[in-house]
Amino acid sequence: MDYLSTRDISAPPKTISFSDMVFAGMAPDGGLYMPQTWPDLSPDMLRTLREQPYAVVAAKVLAPFCVGPDLTADELLKIAEAVYGPRSGIFDDPAVAPLRRINDQISMLELFHGPTIAFKDVALQFLGRVFDHLLAKQNRTITIIGATSGDTGSAAIAACAHMKRANIIILHPAGRVSEIQRRQMTTNPSPNVFNIALDGTFDDCQSMVKELFADRKLNDELNLTAVNSINWARIMAQSVYYVTASLALGGPDTPVSFTVPTGNFGNVFAAYVARVMGVPIHDLVIASNRNDILPRFFATGEMATDKVTPSYSPSMDIQISSNFERYLFELLHRDPRAVNFLMTEFKSKGAFRLTPPDFARATKAFTAYRVDDDETIRSIQDTYEATGMVIDPHTAVGMRAAREHVAKHPDGPHMVTLACAHPAKFPDVIKKALGFSVPLPDRLGNLMSLTERVTPIRKDINIVKNYIRGVAR
Ligand SMILES: *Cc1c(COP(=O)(O)O)cnc(C)c1O
Repeated sequence: MDYLSTRDISAPPKTISFSDMVFAGMAPDGGLYMPQTWPDLSPDMLRTLREQPYAVVAAKVLAPFCVGPDLTADELLKIAEAVYGPRSGIFDDPAVAPLRRINDQISMLELFHGPTIAFKDVALQFLGRVFDHLLAKQNRTITIIGATSGDTGSAAIAACAHMKRANIIILHPAGRVSEIQRRQMTTNPSPNVFNIALDGTFDDCQSMVKELFADRKLNDELNLTAVNSINWARIMAQSVYYVTASLALGGPDTPVSFTVPTGNFGNVFAAYVARVMGVPIHDLVIASNRNDILPRFFATGEMATDKVTPSYSPSMDIQISSNFERYLFELLHRDPRAVNFLMTEFKSKGAFRLTPPDFARATKAFTAYRVDDDETIRSIQDTYEATGMVIDPHTAVGMRAAREHVAKHPDGPHMVTLACAHPAKFPDVIKKALGFSVPLPDRLGNLMSLTERVTPIRKDINIVKNYIRGVAR
């Protein structure tokens, strides 16, 4: 499969290979990479995947996206087995993404069985091994750089620690990530892992990272690589659990619906990809917290940013959903001029509006709900009372939206709502809702006593650059 940019207006558009795309991150024109065509998962093909282990389904679903000269189908299956297979020990449930029944209408898809107990592990563990494989093939080394408000950094470190051909440097805002999130990053003992606690906010971290990538000389010296959610390889890897969940609930012969707690639109776009490939997904429900740019968009047709307000589900405190551009590209019949036009509007005015017919098609593809902090707390309480299960605040946002949607459409297909993090990761909100907190899973047991390694750095790009040159030899 070759990839093209959502904003490339040259004719014909320039395409790049999977292996170049994986290391490139964003396209040079500012667009996001998309596969040139969509693979087709026929009903017959899907039926052959029923009862198959997660690793086998992953290798089958992902092959059309990534098999090529640098990655054969056999090598892909080996990587999938090394990540998701029963002997890998990376996920603490053999199903990788197990389903739990909430009631007759709703099930929960648990995505927190990886090393950092949040869903980003599912894709990043795979991406880390794909990096390793491609770097060995090409005899190259890279420096992975990322900014994090918590979850992505720890998942990326867990995925890229011990890589022989990569250093990973993660910037987090000093004092502004939770203790568990910080320790998950700073206690990793691998010599290729470096943590910067930047004296600033998450936005400062992100603009530092942008400046680093904009420095051509530094890039050439160190082969900087990004691991943020605009990397297509993460999205495609996430589409796999929508396939396994559908198959477990009678797919492809029975449709299901999904509710996805959403920030950057990455995870819900992965669901859309599964649907485009042929998985019978009826409704795709977007669940947002009080940072509700997406529900406002799906109510009005206007995408307009607002100030980010901290909520009980911090990983969704976002007012620019970067991956939405990928959906726009699809919605606008893959017309890069139309995408450029809207993204330019958005950049200059902070808003764009779809035409009524385009908007009508968008509201057929997705439904969106806003869930505020009080409702999040009540959702944690209601779910505990009804099932005895403790859900994290992000999951609770989804659960509330799922219940609302099912109440409105009682005859709709079974609803699967995503459990994006383990409740132990957000002890303060759980305590507030339920009066107690849940222990960290055993695998993280000694997290609170391990030695931390972290370098505090002032908000000064030259100091950051010197530090990075110093460690990334
Ligand atoms: C990252 C994250 C989200 C948001 O996912 P997107 O792909 O940005 O929509 C939701 N919940 C948790 C726990 C996360 O870590």
